Amino acid sequence: ESLDKGLEKTKHSFLSKISKAVVGKSKVDEEVLDELEEILITSDVGVDTMLKIIERIETRVARDKYLNASELDVILKEEIAELLQENNTEDLQDFNLPAGQQPHVMMVVGVNGVGKTTTIGKLAAQFKARDKHVILGAADTFRAAAVDQLKLWGERVGVPVVAHGMNTDPASVAYDTVKAGVEQKADVVIIDTAGRLHTKVNLMNELSKIKRVIQKFIPEAPHEVLLVLDGSTGQNAIVQADAFTQATDVTAMAITKLDGTAKGGVVIGISDRFKIPVKYIGVGEKVEDLQVFNKRLFVDSLFS
Ligand code: GDP
Repeated sequence: ESLDKGLEKTKHSFLSKISKAVVGKSKVDEEVLDELEEILITSDVGVDTMLKIIERIETRVARDKYLNASELDVILKEEIAELLQENNTEDLQDFNLPAGQQPHVMMVVGVNGVGKTTTIGKLAAQFKARDKHVILGAADTFRAAAVDQLKLWGERVGVPVVAHGMNTDPASVAYDTVKAGVEQKADVVIIDTAGRLHTKVNLMNELSKIKRVIQKFIPEAPHEVLLVLDGSTGQNAIVQADAFTQATDVTAMAITKLDGTAKGGVVIGISDRFKIPVKYIGVGEKVEDLQVFNKRLFVDSLFS
């Protein structure tokens, strides 16, 4: 129910507007579709994904000839679920790690302020709670606060943090973190990186350098490149996802701060546009508010 609560604002704006759009209508007509367009844009689904959804509904209207307006939410739910990438889990508590990787190396990328450090801390707590040996690497060395905050999470959760301090070479922190992970037979190594977007080339170079040093120990690492995005920034999150997916091979996304925003539709837009699974969503500040993403539960929650 923390999911329902976390998505309350998006849900509210979404559902109540949809009910209003179909009030007094017997079938889905042009007017209803126009309203729906606006609702989707307001919830920050994005223009491309909005057009796709409208097109799908139009196809169904044409096929079923008479589409009852009261069924619009059911149909929308089905079509939206189709556009969301599968996260291959049904289990909201599935913080399991893939077998056969010791350690499983995660590199976490994203712009400052999106909730990167918090997400790493929450993940560390979830893995630790499952008796996993976790090591964190503070390779976001451009901000003193980032290193300190990660150390704080390390203390709070009870996991070691490899840090060299501010303005040191991020790649050297990554190197030492993976080295410690291998030597200590850690289950998972999570590396925080700096998310400076001032130039794409710079970002690309920084991330590639970190990858190269990690691969000195484990050629197939990082096993996961997790991009953290702030859902409350709506379309801005899409701009950031564009930049990061061009700079490096992002394998998964975490979308934070979905509580307190009505822009939760951005999850649908991002999933549809980038075809990269949203693995985690943040619906609050507490550890348990980082949830494993499940698309069926997500749409159920939007329409319940
Ligand atoms: P970073 O600069 O990307 O490392 O961002 P932080 O991890 O420091 O997070 C920035 C702020 O966002 C902090 O105050 C976090 O507590 C807050 N935050 C992170 N995730 C969530 C979330 O899912 N919901 C809410 N409400 N706040 C969040």
